[in-house]
Amino acid sequence: MTSHTQPSLPLALVVDDDATFRMLSRMSLEQEDLRVEEASSGQAAIDFAASTRPDIIVLDLQMPGMDGFTVCQQIRRLPGGEFVPILIMTGLDDVDSIAKAYEMGATDFIVKPCHGLILSQRVRYMLRASQNLSALRSSESRLAQAQRIAQLGGWEWDVPQQRMEMSDAACHILGISPAACGHSQAAYLERVHEADRALVAEAMREGAADGTGFDLDHRIIQSDGTERIVHLLGELITDDAGTAQRMVGTVQDVTDKRAAEAKIYFLANYDHVTHLPNRSLFLHRVAQAITCGAGNSVIGALLMLSLDRYHRICDMHGSRSGDQIMKDVTERLQQALSVGMTIAQYAGTEAPILARLADDQFAVFLADLSEPEDSSKVAQSFLDVFNRPFQVGTTSVTLSTNIGIAIPGPDGTEAEQLLRKAAAALQATKSKGHNCYQYYSDAMNASIAARVSLEQDLRAAISGNQFILHYQPQVDILSEKVIGFEALIRWQHPTRGLVSPAEFIPVAEEEELIVEMSEWVIKSVTQQQRLWHKKGLAPTAVSINVSGLHFRQRNIASQIKALVYAEGGTPQDIELELTESILMTDAPSTAATLKELKESGFRLAIDDFGTGYSSLAYLQRFPIDTIKIDQAFVKDLKLGKVDSPIMRAIIGMGRALKLHIVAEGVETRDQLAFLRMQGCEAYQGYLFSKPVPVNQLQHLLRDRLSDDASRTTERLRNRLAS
Ligand code: C2E
Ligand code: CA
Ligand code: CA
Repeated sequence: MTSHTQPSLPLALVVDDDATFRMLSRMSLEQEDLRVEEASSGQAAIDFAASTRPDIIVLDLQMPGMDGFTVCQQIRRLPGGEFVPILIMTGLDDVDSIAKAYEMGATDFIVKPCHGLILSQRVRYMLRASQNLSALRSSESRLAQAQRIAQLGGWEWDVPQQRMEMSDAACHILGISPAACGHSQAAYLERVHEADRALVAEAMREGAADGTGFDLDHRIIQSDGTERIVHLLGELITDDAGTAQRMVGTVQDVTDKRAAEAKIYFLANYDHVTHLPNRSLFLHRVAQAITCGAGNSVIGALLMLSLDRYHRICDMHGSRSGDQIMKDVTERLQQALSVGMTIAQYAGTEAPILARLADDQFAVFLADLSEPEDSSKVAQSFLDVFNRPFQVGTTSVTLSTNIGIAIPGPDGTEAEQLLRKAAAALQATKSKGHNCYQYYSDAMNASIAARVSLEQDLRAAISGNQFILHYQPQVDILSEKVIGFEALIRWQHPTRGLVSPAEFIPVAEEEELIVEMSEWVIKSVTQQQRLWHKKGLAPTAVSINVSGLHFRQRNIASQIKALVYAEGGTPQDIELELTESILMTDAPSTAATLKELKESGFRLAIDDFGTGYSSLAYLQRFPIDTIKIDQAFVKDLKLGKVDSPIMRAIIGMGRALKLHIVAEGVETRDQLAFLRMQGCEAYQGYLFSKPVPVNQLQHLLRDRLSDDASRTTERLRNRLAS
């Protein structure tokens, strides 16, 4: 076998035992730009077709050995052989041979001998038809593949004839084999879930009757009993006169899609731990409940609960334990809710809505109460929930809760506003202690408004340079010499005058403004120290209060260091005052931070010592230099007491650990005398000086240079205390 032309041209195989005829055929086909291969026997033709797959075969019927009929039949059985066009060349023009050739799979025939031009034209035509067919086949297979991927099938319903045809894909979706698929609407409806059947039949009937078609989801039961959800879509095709002819449509398996949609909805609207509605769904439902009741004014209540110690438990036992507790809490709240509703003789139709608003916050909306006051019975059942401890592994922990309650107004209240009111009431309970509830009152509005305006003013204060520092001297008890100062921030409010840090520091902490504020304090203190240095004053130690939130910033040690260095300051001249609560949280990183600060040269003090969880352990674990005894103990002495065992113990312990001890809030000579007797080294207090602006310190600092320090400080003390 030989080929003489380029491989990209269509390939024709000429099969004939007559060499002359093969040559003539080759000549006429090559003129038409075909590649030609020849086979002189039936077997050679089959072998070639099996290995090379020609685009067309020109086949003689009469050959010695295997005749053309057999060749045709065998080629059709080859893989891919069913589609190759076969042109039979026959000298026999009897009808029987032609019929038999078609039976064996011939595509067309031509009578031999024939003109070369006719042969080539016929071959060309057959090639074109074969290419079109193959393009159609591949587009059909692409469509079928796409439908399979989309799990989409088609159907056609001849309405007047009541005949319904379903595509193989549609049958597959319904879980029936195409062969067993009946051709009626009833066959389809048979697969539809019993509960949906009437609905689907009605939709199809109506869609055909009014010409609007239909579009719905319904369930089907496949023959093996599997339930799936399908989307059924139908459109009506009418004739020119507008008469309904047939309906065409699709059926698509949307089970997975609907499941994904349901999951997305769940994630967006529910808490994934407790499966309770989240804040946004809760507000939506409350809004619905309130508007439903509009007109006949809903009698209801919104209760907001917050749990104490939830975050502590998560820190200590891991968030999984936190999740487990929240599930237990949910279960108990649900039980308590039904108990509470029974006690309150709840007879409404609207079910209460329980939700988890945040990690440690729950809320419930009670609609349809007989009286708003009945909500207190539910609140009490909720409080009772926390009488019993919760189990975390083998340990049991106690949680407590506080509840704020808000009642919607007679003319309706917005859901968000109602929740805000409950939150305000909840906030108010916190000053009363644990496990109590409180109703919202309008007076709370005023305090909310005040708080909001304080927040806003505070933001403006940071950018508007409204802060200043006051300094309070720290005095050596024996020599009465000033040994340093504590820097205390003051806010010069444009209209309110000086605002106490006790008022704005907690707000700054909550609103996270404290970080910027703390950085400002450190910068200002360092600048001030530089200024004193320039004036030739001796290095002056200043204590700075460090807030918990600031201390928990990432890389806080490096940040503080950088701030001090940036202003040309020296860490050795700065003492950082930390409260016990700061030292208690997250011990490993706290230890590392304190070590880094200490190694950079900062001195470290524990502020308000004795008020928190004063523990010897952290006095030993952390590199502490100073303890500042809280004012409360000093104050005790003033109230008629002449002795304080606690103070004696703290001072004794501090001395044993070789710590520097400073007593705070010293106001009287008696207090000072006691402290001196116990061996306390230094003090701070109104007795010597209140915290004062820096310009009032100049004399004090200058006097430190003079030799007769004790006499001048005595003079100053009199002046400042007056
Ligand atoms: P603190 O750190 O315990 O500061 C001592 C407080 O006691 C100061 O109140 C001071 O004015 C007051 N005090 C001093 N001597 C006496 C006395 O003899 N009798 C009485 N009754 N009080 C005395 P101040 O300045 O109102 O500060 C209150 C708290 O605000 C501070 O308590 C501290 O925790 C915080 N604070 C003040 N400035 C800053 C700051 O710059 N940063 C941070 N994070 N907190 C600050
Ligand atoms: Ca302090
Ligand atoms: Ca203090």
